[in-house]
Amino acid sequence: EGFMPRPSKRRVITVANQKGGVGKTTSTVNLAAALAMHGVKTLVIDLDPQGNASTAIDVDHRSGTPSVYELLIGEVSIVEAAQPSSQTDNLLCVPATIDLAGAEIELVSMQSRESRLKEALTNEALAQLDVDYVFIDCPPSLGLLTVNALVSAHEVLIPIQCEYYALEGLGQLLSNIELVQKHLNRTLSVSTILLTMYDGRTKLADQVTQEVKNHFGEVVLKTIIPRSVKVSEAPGYGQTVLAFDPGSRGAMSYLDAAREVAERGVEGKQE
Ligand code: ADP
Ligand code: MG
Repeated sequence: EGFMPRPSKRRVITVANQKGGVGKTTSTVNLAAALAMHGVKTLVIDLDPQGNASTAIDVDHRSGTPSVYELLIGEVSIVEAAQPSSQTDNLLCVPATIDLAGAEIELVSMQSRESRLKEALTNEALAQLDVDYVFIDCPPSLGLLTVNALVSAHEVLIPIQCEYYALEGLGQLLSNIELVQKHLNRTLSVSTILLTMYDGRTKLADQVTQEVKNHFGEVVLKTIIPRSVKVSEAPGYGQTVLAFDPGSRGAMSYLDAAREVAERGVEGKQE
C-alpha cells in the first residue's frame, strides 16, 4: 500500500555514527526493508563485524560464507556475496562474518586501503544486481571500515538518539566526513539525519529534537522514530520490525522515514 518513488539515480547511503547503540543497524535494516517491500530493490552491506544487520535480515553469516570480508580482500565479487532476504522480495544483504573483526588491522597494510569497498561496488556489479539503493551499516568507530563506507557513498545518514549527550561526538564524525570529502570523495554529503528512540514522555527528548533541528536544519527527517518494544524485539526473531509487526508504531514510522528518504531522491537532490 502506498507508492514509493524510485530514485532518478542509484543512491549509496552510508549509515554512520561512531557511537554504539544509536540505531544505525536498526535504521539501516528497517529503511531498507520498507523500500524493498514497496518494490524498490535495495542492498544492505553489513560492515560491522558484529553482524547485527545480517541477523535482522536473516541471511547466513557463519564464518566461511562469502561476506563483506572476502569482498574487501578481493576474493569475491559483490554479486557473489549478496544474498536475498527470506523476508521480502527486493532485499539483498552482503553479510558480515566474524572474519571481519580482523579486517580493520589487515586493511592497514593493503593497497588502496580506504577505497577497497568502493572498488568492489562497481557500476557493472550494481547494475547486475539491479539495485536502486545501497545502505552501508557501519561499525561504532571511525576506523578504516567506516572510512571505506564513506568513500563508497554519495550520502551519509546519521542516526541520532534522542537523549542527553546526543550531539556529543558528532563534531568528530563531521570532521572525519570533511576529511573524506576533501581527499577521497568529493561527492559525499550529509543528506539525512534521523532522530531515533524518541520517548515522548520526557521533556528532554523534545529539547534534543529542537537542538538537532536548529543545528542541522532541513536534512533532519520530519519523521522521528519512537522508542518501541517491537523494534527491539524484532531482531531476536531474525526479522526487521517491518516483517515482525508491520502495523506497529515502530514499523509505520520507519515506513514514513523511508518514504521521506525516497521522496528526497527524486527532487533532483542527486546531481
Ligand atoms: P547501533 O547499530 O547504532 O549500535 P542498534 O540499531 O543496534 O544501534 O540499536 C541499539 C539497541 O537499541 C538495539 O538493541 C536495538 O534493538 C534497540 N533499538 C533501536 N531502535 C530502537 C527503537 N526505536 N525502540 C526501541 N529499541 C530500539
Ligand atoms: Mg550496529
